Amino acid sequence: MKILFVSSEALPLSKTGGLADVAFSLPKALAEEDVDIRVITPYYSTIAAALAEHADFLGSKTIHMNWRNQYMGVHEIHFGKVVYYLIDNEYYFKRDQLYGYFDDGERFSFFSKAVLEAIDMTHFEPNVIHLNDWHTAIVPYLLKTQYAKDPRYAQTKSVFTIHNLKYQGVFERGFLEDMFGPESAFHGDGRLVFGSGINYMKAGIRFADKITTVSETYAEEILTPYFGEKLEWDLNYRRHDLVGLTNGIDYDDYNPKTDARLFFNYDQTSPEGKRANKAKLQSLSGLTVDENAPLIAIVSRLVDSKGFDLIERVMPEMFDLGVQLIVLGTGDYHYENLFKYYSQRFPNRLKVYVEFNATLAQRIYAGSDLFLMPSRFEPCGLGQLIALRYGSIPIVRETGGLKDTVVPYNRFTGEGTGFTFTNYNAHEMLDQIRDAVELFQTNQENWNALVRQAMSADHSWKRSAHHYLEIYRNLGK
Ligand code: ADP
Repeated sequence: MKILFVSSEALPLSKTGGLADVAFSLPKALAEEDVDIRVITPYYSTIAAALAEHADFLGSKTIHMNWRNQYMGVHEIHFGKVVYYLIDNEYYFKRDQLYGYFDDGERFSFFSKAVLEAIDMTHFEPNVIHLNDWHTAIVPYLLKTQYAKDPRYAQTKSVFTIHNLKYQGVFERGFLEDMFGPESAFHGDGRLVFGSGINYMKAGIRFADKITTVSETYAEEILTPYFGEKLEWDLNYRRHDLVGLTNGIDYDDYNPKTDARLFFNYDQTSPEGKRANKAKLQSLSGLTVDENAPLIAIVSRLVDSKGFDLIERVMPEMFDLGVQLIVLGTGDYHYENLFKYYSQRFPNRLKVYVEFNATLAQRIYAGSDLFLMPSRFEPCGLGQLIALRYGSIPIVRETGGLKDTVVPYNRFTGEGTGFTFTNYNAHEMLDQIRDAVELFQTNQENWNALVRQAMSADHSWKRSAHHYLEIYRNLGK
């Protein structure tokens, strides 16, 4: 079974969000099951030089995209058992950021075509090409049109995974022809049309042989208009080919016992290690060093969908509960300023780091008591999984993967792994924060038991990796 896993970002090479984690840890888990899985991703200039020097050059060719003739270099690098192919083109990928440019559509159309052309250098003929999110969602369409007669892809099936339906890749009607030449002129069968334009995400949904998304609940939610982002009709059309598989995290990488980024290592049996991390984090962040102050963490992109308007609504009331707050994130100017404003008002109780910093993120997971993630929608969410593993108790809204991975704490039986609320309502969230704070401050024994339960919940990849494998195998039949 040969799988080509295609992603616009992949750790340890690049990362802006959860997709990069998945593009590293899922292939790794599958490789452990003896699947020959290879990852293909852009060769961004932001890739650390220390990593890039281990990449071998496999060859190059010119990619024709309508009137454009673009260089494509292919490099190969190994991480553990998994081979990564890097697609090089400085015009498209030598930029400061991964995304956010006027020509992102062209950049990832190039990458999508390069994925299919790189076979000349890699000689890797996959049984399944596994695409992820809109950046590569046009590949199933290319496979069924321009590459339909290519003998090297005659047996190749496609899987398309939706990590976030919100970002779709919508372009004007003539875009496809502009990218892939007159032969790909719009076919008028409606499978790409979106309003007056075309939609790459929709192409993935309509042309892939199988569609997955990253949690069971999100797979149901996106069939409804509220979560469907105007693609619910197409998703319903393909609902028998749509399945939700909950993401895991890499348990070697995210392990408080061995994580070199932490001030102190610890596990379920050594809560004093976690306390030491908290004290160090508090002092590093200029907060009052106080073991009894409940320390809430947020590590997130600062965007609307993560529920920051709820936090904004009740921020003073949160501080009335005696909590401390550490925020690590970048994103909307409005939310960056919101936290900056409150950090000036409560300098000993709120610290905001407006940056992307993987080491600091781990220190925050390890040093915090609670992890707040009140998302409006959340396809899966990795933040709460990492928090669980590091014993930071999640407070989440019951949506998407948050609902599937955090078990509500039951104060009578002591079962559960976190605090959850149903409606997108600031005071429902505040009630849960209040309950969590009360438990933390009044019942140390039960609190410690809750932390142990959270840390021993299994959110490794093993189960979901088996499901993916099953999907690949069934497609091959
Ligand atoms: P999304 O993919 O929607 O951004 P997830 O919860 O699935 O959200 O994944 C977010 C990942 O990015 C987590 O691993 C989280 O720790 C990490 N992360 C988010 N913001 C930052 C930041 N500013 N610095 C470091 N890591 C971050």
